[in-house]
Amino acid sequence: MAGYDVVIVGGGAMGSAAAYYLKSLAGDVSVAVVEKDPSYEYCSTLRSDGNLRIQFNLEENIRMSQYTLELLESFADDMEIDGWRPDPAPKRQGNLFLAEDDEARVHAEAGMAAQRALGCDVEWLDGATIAER
Ligand SMILES: Cc1cc2nc3c(=O)[nH]c(=O)nc-3n(C[C@H](O)[C@H](O)[C@H](O)COP(=O)(O)OP(=O)(O)OC[C@H]3O[C@@H](n4cnc5c(N)ncnc54)[C@H](O)[C@@H]3O)c2cc1C
Repeated sequence: MAGYDVVIVGGGAMGSAAAYYLKSLAGDVSVAVVEKDPSYEYCSTLRSDGNLRIQFNLEENIRMSQYTLELLESFADDMEIDGWRPDPAPKRQGNLFLAEDDEARVHAEAGMAAQRALGCDVEWLDGATIAER
């Protein structure tokens, strides 16, 4: 598309976030979002269950989830347009990951150490505790 600095194809969560942050961080950049289904009926974003997990091993992923949790606190206020307040309907339900063998256990332990180092509230549960809960 001529006349725009950036053209983003697809206006789901990823495309819209990219457009939003481009405009927020560099307001003079012209951005167009091209969306083939303005009803968003079939995009993944509207199908999402709203679950957000923090259990990653990569620091970048953990930090992105932490940022998102923070962002969701004031999402409706920050994104309000002409009195319409979007509700992303996030679910704070926690996530249970099962380690099926020793290799998975080592991976999960490394992930938990990384998560705790970044201040995440994560717990290690053994089988008996899971059954009890
Ligand atoms: C049933 C379900 C449940 C889910 N639950 C969760 C969850 O609980 N937690 C979680 O983190 N993730 C969940 N996900 C995954 C999450 O929804 C997706 O990873 C995320 O929404 C992807 O966003 P996106 O912007 O990349 O894609 P989309 O939201 O699919 O957006 C892509 C957009 O691009 C448009 N498009 C495609 N091709 C073109 C084209 N050629 N020209 C113009 N426009 C085009 C589409 O119309 C669409 O609007 C779930 C996904 C599904 C399907």
